[in-house]
Amino acid sequence: MGVDLGLDLIVVGSANADLVVAVERRPGPGETVLGSDTSVLPGGKGANTAVAAARLGAKVALLGAVGNDGHGELLLESLRTAGVDTSLVRRSDRPTGAAYIFVTPDGENSILVSPGANSALSEQDVDLADARVLVASLEVPLPTVEHAVAVAVQRGIRPVVNISPMAELSAGTLAALDPVVVNEHEAAQLIGQGADLRGLLDLGPRSAVVTLGARGALVIEADGTHEVESPKVDAVDTTGAGDAFTGALAAQLAEGADLVTAAHLAVKVAAISVTRKGAQPSYPTAEEVRG
Ligand code: ATP
Repeated sequence: MGVDLGLDLIVVGSANADLVVAVERRPGPGETVLGSDTSVLPGGKGANTAVAAARLGAKVALLGAVGNDGHGELLLESLRTAGVDTSLVRRSDRPTGAAYIFVTPDGENSILVSPGANSALSEQDVDLADARVLVASLEVPLPTVEHAVAVAVQRGIRPVVNISPMAELSAGTLAALDPVVVNEHEAAQLIGQGADLRGLLDLGPRSAVVTLGARGALVIEADGTHEVESPKVDAVDTTGAGDAFTGALAAQLAEGADLVTAAHLAVKVAAISVTRKGAQPSYPTAEEVRG
């Protein structure tokens, strides 16, 4: 238990091959529609978050699972190229997770996710290396994330969870989070549409961060709420913006930044990411963010 890999950050989450096809319109029931060539891109919330943090210079490992197939190789390769430690990525007999993404001319996406190997990431796989921060998202089984948070707390690792996709965390897990990260829709699901976002703290977490799209983010702490404005940019593709934000936030927390300072950097990173196509390829380096 607890190998010293010299890490700042451990990301617990999914790795998916994104299979993107441009279509004139979505197929209806029983219908066949021809689309463009398929682009195969590395994705998944966990892998995206890890790559975003690594680009900024954080020493980061992904705890996740891929299959023994070509998509698994693609994902491992993209993680390694970004500088992510892959020694905690398990190989499963299940196929690598895949997201089938249909993009229509209006820019709308329809996405079907086949979790595959991600579903095989179990509590037994949680063997945390030493690190300062653990950040998890929920495209992997909930019991695995809850166990990882519990182990992180025991080991003095700061737990951060992005509740995406939406799932019901136990009160014990919520109480440990510092912060819980959600977007506006997820916040509304947790505390009700139009409710004061400070109500998120009533669910138990030590702090909360709500991402607000082009408006930036809101940092909610026991002693106050801080609005963190986003730089104004021309958005081209917001795919993976939330993961860029979470990866950058966690990387800064691991460096010892306070939550508001970390959120200021995270909105810059996410704003740059939306000016470029794709998820992982759009994430900036520390130099670009400073420049
Ligand atoms: P996604 O699902 O697209 O990855 P999300 O729904 O999880 O994102 P958002 O709140 O939409 O989360 O975006 C996350 C962060 O990305 C925002 O807090 C903001 O910093 C940045 N962002 C998103 N859209 C824009 C935009 N149009 N201009 C500038 N920054 C943006």
